[in-house]
Amino acid sequence: RTEEISTPKRTKEIIARHGFSFKKSLGQNFLIDQNILHNIVAAAHLTPDKGALEIGPGIGALTEKLAQTAGKVTAVEIDRRLIPILEEVLSPYPNVSVEQGDVLKVDLKDLFARHFEGVSGVSVVANLPYYVTTPILMKLLEEKLPLENIVVMIQKEVAQRMAASPGSKDYGSLSIAVQYYCEPQLVCTVPHTVFIPQPNVESAVIRLKVRDKPAVEVEDEDHFFEIMQASFVQRRKTIANNLKSRYFPKEGRERLEELLQQAEIDPSRRGETLSMEEYAVLSRVFLQAGI
Ligand code: SAM
Repeated sequence: RTEEISTPKRTKEIIARHGFSFKKSLGQNFLIDQNILHNIVAAAHLTPDKGALEIGPGIGALTEKLAQTAGKVTAVEIDRRLIPILEEVLSPYPNVSVEQGDVLKVDLKDLFARHFEGVSGVSVVANLPYYVTTPILMKLLEEKLPLENIVVMIQKEVAQRMAASPGSKDYGSLSIAVQYYCEPQLVCTVPHTVFIPQPNVESAVIRLKVRDKPAVEVEDEDHFFEIMQASFVQRRKTIANNLKSRYFPKEGRERLEELLQQAEIDPSRRGETLSMEEYAVLSRVFLQAGI
């Protein structure tokens, strides 16, 4: 019986036999720990009637566990050198398909139509390349794909920012962008020793349970996100100062203060203290005023 792909021994054997060399620029840190892999897969609540989309399968450590749990697994890997390796090591699993490509450029709606027809729900499960974590997650969320969960290994600080509440030091536009679409939950933090090669940053697993509908109702999503981002441009400044620089650079403060009053927001507060609901109200008031 062959060992699991993710044991240190088999991982080293596969890498040596194929003469594979790691590319740091692609964020290649492969998992070699059974417990962590188990925790990642368990957090996605997969069953044989569900599908899993994996981004960056590497040599298939996580892909194999997903294949044993979900009904259908599709993995998108950018590095062409890994495709023949994946085809070989994953050949015992007929429910896995691997596609070569940059996930940021792949048409995911089309991929879903080709691979996940008939499954009762799809989750993204991945040990993400850290250099593109935020663009990948924002693409998954903004395209409004029919996802149940997103369970990802990411840099620990990024996970903390995604899960942060108003008023905490980690709370910012990333927290709001993620929490608008999802309910975040930190699953575990992860030591360096579970990867080869070991990354220089600390890692964590986060579960984002995708909401049926966004957390707050807004008329114009782009407008809402723009106001929120403008409010955090300079974290140490008050919301009034940040909004003034962005929306009223040449006017006095009267109009802005009036609008903030209408939204029941004290102009001396900082952006990091406002809840998502307050940003939604602010966006509504600005839109009504034609801003
Ligand atoms: N899933 C494997 C594991 O856990 O052992 C590998 C994880 S490794 C952190 C990240 C993987 O993402 C690498 O295999 C890398 O080649 C791939 N990758 C990097 N950028 C990518 C992109 N834009 N699209 C798809 N895959 C990418």
